[in-house]
Amino acid sequence: MKLNLDIQPLSSWVNVTNEPLIISGPCSAETEEQLLSTAHLLKATGKVSVLRAGIWKPRTRPGEFEGIGSIGLEWLKRAKEETGLPTAVEVATAKHVEEALAAGVDILWVGARTTANPFSVQEIADALRGHDVPVLVKNPVNPDLSLWIGALERINNAGIKKIGAIHRGFSSFEKSSFRNEPMWELAIQLKTHCPELPIINDPSHICGNRELIPYIAQKALDLDMQGLMIESHIDPSVAWTDAKQQVTPAALAELVERFSIRQPESKNEAFADKLADLRKQIDKIDDLVIQKLGERMAIVEKIGEFKRDNNVTILQVHRWDEIMKRRGAFASALKLDPNFTEKFLELIHSESIRKQTLIMNKDKTAATIVEVAPPVQI
Ligand code: PEP
Ligand code: MN
Repeated sequence: MKLNLDIQPLSSWVNVTNEPLIISGPCSAETEEQLLSTAHLLKATGKVSVLRAGIWKPRTRPGEFEGIGSIGLEWLKRAKEETGLPTAVEVATAKHVEEALAAGVDILWVGARTTANPFSVQEIADALRGHDVPVLVKNPVNPDLSLWIGALERINNAGIKKIGAIHRGFSSFEKSSFRNEPMWELAIQLKTHCPELPIINDPSHICGNRELIPYIAQKALDLDMQGLMIESHIDPSVAWTDAKQQVTPAALAELVERFSIRQPESKNEAFADKLADLRKQIDKIDDLVIQKLGERMAIVEKIGEFKRDNNVTILQVHRWDEIMKRRGAFASALKLDPNFTEKFLELIHSESIRKQTLIMNKDKTAATIVEVAPPVQI
């Protein structure tokens, strides 16, 4: 799938003080004093390019602090006048868009809960028509790439060319160390569909705690993401929202200081030659792996026919156990990660079962076959 968005590069709509782009500020604007003092300290670090603040907060349960509302826009205006930092705010309705634009907010973002609802995204897109404001679209709460892409398309179709994505992780049923599972592969797939789309990582909402932020932020930079949105509060311990994940402006500066910034390409010729050589070796091995998989599947088909002609079931559990044991031991002797080996073998096994199911059911209707043997999903 190729995603055709009409995009202006990030550098044309935000002045990046230092690479990478750092957007920082409190989860929520709470008081004028809290916002202004945080903004001044962030500006003084010299590392922050954009000041963020939540004015309207989408909360899971009613009765929690739902944002300070429109008055916060006045505080943001003042923060911008005093620090020179452009401002960014979350919008969830047409009214939010109108108020934020009227108050001179520089960048708008669509939150994760809003991205999950195409009606809301369309309402925002309609309100944006005719304006030239940059818009960042957070991934939806659920791991659905199409929903994320759909929201970007709706905003872009409204004529917004200064557009980017924010990767803030996905909610998951399973317990994990993260508040939201990063599921990096979804952000990578988005980048593959649309290489010119800037993607900014939000380690604060992925981690849900301060301690993990450096690791996620560094990983995002290593994956060539264009920037980071990190929540910062003058005194995180008393923050009204997301207290555990906010960092002080001083901690933010230290965090940014410690990043290793790696370039996507190197101009060094010796490096380029060596890399090209190693990639040639990888290409050869990948071709061999695919060739061998093809050979394996041809034998799998033969076995399928043999089982069918002799009325034997497809699955023999003891054989599968034996494969897992023997191949697992071999793989671990070669220092392959056991998790990876297990997933890889399971993938091959389920494809083998799918092939044999097709052979066994050759004379049944196509619909039945699809039901019995869906293509493998990863
Ligand atoms: C936020 O940025 O404060 C926020 C509410 O984030 P998300 O939409 O990612 O939950
Ligand atoms: Mn937050």
